[in-house]
Amino acid sequence: MVAEIDKKSGFCFGVQNAVEVVEKALLKGEKVFSLGSIVHNDKEVERLSALGLVTIDHEQFNKLKNCKVLIRAHGEPPETYQTAERNNITIIEATCPIVKKLQSRIKDTWLKTRENNGQIIIFGKPGHAEVVGLLGQTKNEGILVSGPDDISKIDITKPISLFAQTTMSVSDYRNFVGLLRSEMKRKEISDPENHLNVNNTICGQVSNREPHLKSFARKHDVVVFVSGKESSNGKMLYSVCKRVNPDTHFVSSPDEIDRSWFAGKKSAGICGATSTPKWLIEKVYDIISEI
Ligand code: SF4
Repeated sequence: MVAEIDKKSGFCFGVQNAVEVVEKALLKGEKVFSLGSIVHNDKEVERLSALGLVTIDHEQFNKLKNCKVLIRAHGEPPETYQTAERNNITIIEATCPIVKKLQSRIKDTWLKTRENNGQIIIFGKPGHAEVVGLLGQTKNEGILVSGPDDISKIDITKPISLFAQTTMSVSDYRNFVGLLRSEMKRKEISDPENHLNVNNTICGQVSNREPHLKSFARKHDVVVFVSGKESSNGKMLYSVCKRVNPDTHFVSSPDEIDRSWFAGKKSAGICGATSTPKWLIEKVYDIISEI
């Protein structure tokens, strides 16, 4: 089997940075807690746990005192920082700079929309850590939408500022904006350009991978997509590959590879999400190239 790794797959710089920050602290022998999984990839979490990283949830975090806690790339709402201050917890800041910037844009816009009776809308996945952090900037007054069915949550007659979670699909976001525009037309909203403020906040590290992965998936007989099952951009990028090449298979670990996928095929492409470590993609490659 001729196998090829997609060179653009693997950690984005936000995740890479978080992993490097925590590795540095662990190598100094410090006890570090990670608030939530540092990355949506069980294999990488296992590797870092073996180095001493302890993953905790918010309930455990609220009970901690006098220790060091890492904030992962997804970021956190303001309450987390307030709790840390109260309990003498030192924050190891690994929020991705792109997410940090988005948080402050949402906060600034929210403060302005309070004056013009507007609404902050966040296009994202319910319960996703980044979304929790983004909504937290608005004291949870922002409205979360995840698809066309949620359009009814929006009062179309009031000014709208729309933001997307960084890892959403560009085409889904575009469709949602189109839907909002047609609703505004139906309601004969005057000055639609000022009424709807669309912010293009999907991260380039994700959106640039979509067209690239399409051509990568098209050129191989079979595609193996490596990602943690919890990864939001993993699910999204997998479906991008699956749409252009139905012979695309999702694996979280090398032992999920099924040899029958390759019967009668000549070439295999191996790719992954922004949360998939390179070493895991390489392990999958080693097995497939020997078939
Ligand atoms: S996908 Fe983009 S915004 Fe999200 S962590 Fe990676 S670099 Fe940061």
